[in-house]
Amino acid sequence: MKNIKTDFLIVGSGLYGCVIAERIATILKKKVIIIEKRNHIGGNCYSEIDKETGIEFHKYGTHIFHTSKKNVWNYLKKFTSLNNYKHQVLSNYKSKVYQMPINLETINKFFNQKLNPVKAELFLKKKTKKFIKKNPDNFEEKALMQIGKELYTAFIKGYTEKQWGKDPKKLPSSIFNRLPIRFNYNKTYFKNADVEGIPSNGYTEVFKKLTSNPLISIIYNKSFNLKQKYMVNKAIIYTGPLDKLLNYKFGQLEWRSVKFKKKVLNRRDYQGTSVMNFPEKKIKFTRIHEPRHLHTDRNYKDKTLIIKEFPELNSNEPYYPINDKKNRLIHSKYKNYLTKNYKNLITGGRLADYAYYDMDMTISAALKKFEFIKKKLK
Ligand SMILES: Cc1cc2nc3c(=O)[nH]c(=O)nc-3n(C[C@H](O)[C@H](O)[C@H](O)COP(=O)(O)OP(=O)(O)OC[C@H]3O[C@@H](n4cnc5c(N)ncnc54)[C@H](O)[C@@H]3O)c2cc1C
Repeated sequence: MKNIKTDFLIVGSGLYGCVIAERIATILKKKVIIIEKRNHIGGNCYSEIDKETGIEFHKYGTHIFHTSKKNVWNYLKKFTSLNNYKHQVLSNYKSKVYQMPINLETINKFFNQKLNPVKAELFLKKKTKKFIKKNPDNFEEKALMQIGKELYTAFIKGYTEKQWGKDPKKLPSSIFNRLPIRFNYNKTYFKNADVEGIPSNGYTEVFKKLTSNPLISIIYNKSFNLKQKYMVNKAIIYTGPLDKLLNYKFGQLEWRSVKFKKKVLNRRDYQGTSVMNFPEKKIKFTRIHEPRHLHTDRNYKDKTLIIKEFPELNSNEPYYPINDKKNRLIHSKYKNYLTKNYKNLITGGRLADYAYYDMDMTISAALKKFEFIKKKLK
């Protein structure tokens, strides 16, 4: 490792790191070395083929690409086409299956009604009237204001308690903004996506293409730290967590994590959809993924793969940032310290920014950071 000599060193082979690597090699024609602590490329977007069933699955949770950002799709389409998958989420409550986000079908089925859109809105208004508040203080207050007690208790409360490991009264109201309510039968999950689907040949193929330039090389199973000495002409781009990089000197950032349990079943189809929510608290997992439904164009065998998702608090396997005031303050201390003391270190990506980014946001941020690098370091 002592002999590593490069123009740019990138830490992390996730989407952020690989997009920047591709841009540097293609546009600036500079040498890039990527260091990755895992034994594979792709970060959390990584996909692989299950040996027993031949089904391609996403090791770190089902990933659906969707965007309304033109520049992101213009960039990504150079490396992949998308299949025709359109995401839909269903929720299994007391063994009955409902549409998520809540729509007219959910309302009518749950309350055993035959309401049209106008009547459904009035019906729900009556249920939410007593919870209306100008400034809801927390997640629960906001949810009750919008969907009332019955729908909240069935579909949201237990799910949220499992997902975040916290009483919804202790979560910020802003999290509830992400759940739309529809008084029509629209069941598409990503309402504003102009482009949506799964890479036709899987995510891992996209990453292989992104890094196919001979100026890029990847070293796997290697964890970066600041004590290691590298001969880097231009800059180090670090996409890992900042607290770990600085040995937790300002405290540890909290993350919500998930564990996945895989099982092969001797039947063609288990649940008829790619993701099913299980909102009841007494069921320990939050979702069942069935990845065969992500690639309906493929000729899979008469066996299926299901993956149960169990949330847990584990800051060493970071998935979702606990984006509260305390953690944001800790994060800003790390960021300021690094900016001041490490001039040739650039940070970015979901781990370094302590943020939840969809894939299109990650690509967009990486393309912007590349423009900055081009101007400053060419
Ligand atoms: C459960 C889940 C589901 C998701 N589903 C979707 C979805 O459906 N649609 C969507 O658009 N987005 C989805 N996302 C978001 C998507 O995963 C992210 O946008 C994307 O992975 C961010 O890429 P990244 O490069 O910033 O981070 P990562 O993918 O985490 O990559 C960072 C890489 O850096 C490596 N690394 C870290 N520290 C070090 C170190 N010290 N030394 C060496 N290597 C290091 C890590 O091993 C990792 O490979 C989902 C996220 C989660 C958690």
